[in-house]
Amino acid sequence: MRKVAVECRGIGLSYGRTEVLKDVSLHIEPGEFFALLGPSGSGKSTLLRLIAGFNRQNRGELLVDGRDISGVPPHARNIGMVFQSYALWPHMTVFDNVSFGLVERKVARDEVRRRTEAALDLVGLREFAQRRPNQLSGGQQQRVALARTVVIEPQVLLLDEPLSNLDKNLRVTMRQELLALQRKLGITTIFVTHDQEEAMTTADRMAVLDGGILQQVGAPAELFDFPANRFVASFVGTTNLLDGVLSPDGTEAMRFDAEGVGPLRLPGSANTPPPGRVSISFRPHAVQLQDAATSREPSLLWLAGTVEAAEFLGETTRYRVRVGTLAMTADQPHFGGTPKFADGAPVAVGVAPSQLRYLPC
Ligand code: ADP
Repeated sequence: MRKVAVECRGIGLSYGRTEVLKDVSLHIEPGEFFALLGPSGSGKSTLLRLIAGFNRQNRGELLVDGRDISGVPPHARNIGMVFQSYALWPHMTVFDNVSFGLVERKVARDEVRRRTEAALDLVGLREFAQRRPNQLSGGQQQRVALARTVVIEPQVLLLDEPLSNLDKNLRVTMRQELLALQRKLGITTIFVTHDQEEAMTTADRMAVLDGGILQQVGAPAELFDFPANRFVASFVGTTNLLDGVLSPDGTEAMRFDAEGVGPLRLPGSANTPPPGRVSISFRPHAVQLQDAATSREPSLLWLAGTVEAAEFLGETTRYRVRVGTLAMTADQPHFGGTPKFADGAPVAVGVAPSQLRYLPC
């Protein structure tokens, strides 16, 4: 099947006076596995339902394969949607659930059988064809919902929190299965999730939404390594943020007056922005933690702090370090026998300039 692009151009949608989507512009490439990520209430489902045709925008255009489909009703869109609840019919067998869309479209009986069996094979459920949904596990029900959607060979596949009803282990297995299925079919797929790990592990690219505004679009590593703003830095992964004012200090270094911490010496580096108000973000794993008395490598930014708590996570130990009035997170790799910093220990938190990200405050 030919792969198609999905494009939102300046989409705005309001419920009454509440603007739920604000000027959303997105270009999803043909065959892409694309995640819409954001906290609850950020507008993800509203956007997905708009693409499906259940919502209509007040402004902007929605194009599939270059054609504006805003006025096309859902059933005429050739878009398949898997709902969070799966929405299977409990009184029908798995086979009948999956074949329903074909029967409805008046496909010939032999072809209904052939295509339904192929869809069941695709999700590994052929032997369960005569069961009813309540005789299946959560993961199997999810696969029925997928088979029922892909059997009609949609041009675009929409998934609304597809894994949220499954327990943690199954979620990890199912997200791999979902990706393998999408790769096999090559359908342009858009899935909604509030779980950044789910988005990062599966998506080719993702869009982060907050308050109905698109914050950033890009490959997972791009968003993680180069977040556009404080929201993305905190939502995609864990981060430390320092707000303050950057000013020249007469040397190659800069002075950074950090709120809640005080003046810091910021070693010069190519990516230091011009003087002014700025937020500095750095990841917990990019931090070097050392005893306060140990001499400090001059090319790093150093913060003086006190260990408040430690969580041993196996591969790493996650420390909460009090720096001025702020709580910072520092992840230190764990090797057998690594000594731990005790609660209350005075420490120095070091970060290489290449790991600092300067964001609008
Ligand atoms: P998400 O999927 O990111 O959790 P939604 O798209 O479901 O967010 O909702 C975005 C905002 O729109 C929320 O503030 C929600 O309360 C509001 N909303 C969603 N559906 C309706 C509706 N039918 N009428 C009024 N407000 C709605």
